[in-house]
Amino acid sequence: KAKANGGNQAVFFTPELNNALQDQLELEGMLRSAIAERELEVHFQPQINPANHQLVGLEALARWTHPEKGPIPPGRFIPIAESSGQIMDLGSLVFDLACAQAAKWRRDGFDFKHISVNVSPMQLGQANFIEMLKSTLERHNLPGETICIEITESVFVDQNEERIARIFAGVHTLGLRLALDDFGSGYSSLGYLNQLPLEQLKVDRCFVSDIDTDTRKQKVLRGILELARGLGFEIVVEGTETLEEVRMVEAMGCDAVQGYYFARPSPASLVPDMVAKIALSRREPPALRA
Ligand code: C2E
Ligand code: MG
Ligand code: MG
Ligand code: MG
Repeated sequence: KAKANGGNQAVFFTPELNNALQDQLELEGMLRSAIAERELEVHFQPQINPANHQLVGLEALARWTHPEKGPIPPGRFIPIAESSGQIMDLGSLVFDLACAQAAKWRRDGFDFKHISVNVSPMQLGQANFIEMLKSTLERHNLPGETICIEITESVFVDQNEERIARIFAGVHTLGLRLALDDFGSGYSSLGYLNQLPLEQLKVDRCFVSDIDTDTRKQKVLRGILELARGLGFEIVVEGTETLEEVRMVEAMGCDAVQGYYFARPSPASLVPDMVAKIALSRREPPALRA
């Protein structure tokens, strides 16, 4: 754009750019106070074993509803938190909220294997990251095994390998599990699978959409699942939206599916009933009941 306007001319304050910048700054400020006031929430999305409809785990997903602007999606506020340096505070808050809920559910006798929490690559660069995890688990009297940390492949772009290895070792020392999120959505390298001490692989939903009609996609997904199984990972397939997709993925073999077909991310208070209904739907699939 600047070139078209005649070389080294400054074009910083076009009205559009100015508006976008102001929006950004405004959101940054609002997010800062939302984090400080602990106004963020987490919703939980069940991960369901497709063979028996039993709950495996739940993913905690950050939610922000501004009093005037309404709900702002994580796809919008997470990048803002990252670019403005607020992601450490946001991440610590989400981890605390997820652990608090995990502890409450354990007291209530609501049974799950693990609750997954997303961690941004930038958080791994946080000096006291492991300390934050440890003190939060202790505060909620929670065994590490009940929590799974989700990281994406982009950590390998931003961080050096030795550093990552050290952090992962620290995570494992606390008993926490590690998942690789959105596998296959970016610059996937199979080399990561080989090297990383992971417990769980989350296969991105791009491999699942239209799987029932796209035979090439079926082959790719089948291959990925076979590989992941061979390496001993727990496998979660993301983004299963229809019964056809669920059944197809079930036939290929995976430990859990996480998608809109079974449940959307929901407030914690609604989750136990939702999970009980899903378990009951084994004999009578919701799609047929409807
Ligand atoms: P993600 O970690 O891959 O989370 C899964 C996303 O897929 C969620 O979007 C979920 O609502 C959506 N999803 C689940 N099932 C389906 C489905 O069947 N179809 C479709 N189309 N989508 C489905 P959400 O909650 O909007 O979060 C988007 C992303 O924002 C997350 O992707 C994650 O990368 C990031 N995020 C959310 N919460 C946090 C957080 O607390 N910390 C960090 N660092 N990132 C977060
Ligand atoms: Mg995730
Ligand atoms: Mg994902
Ligand atoms: Mg994603």
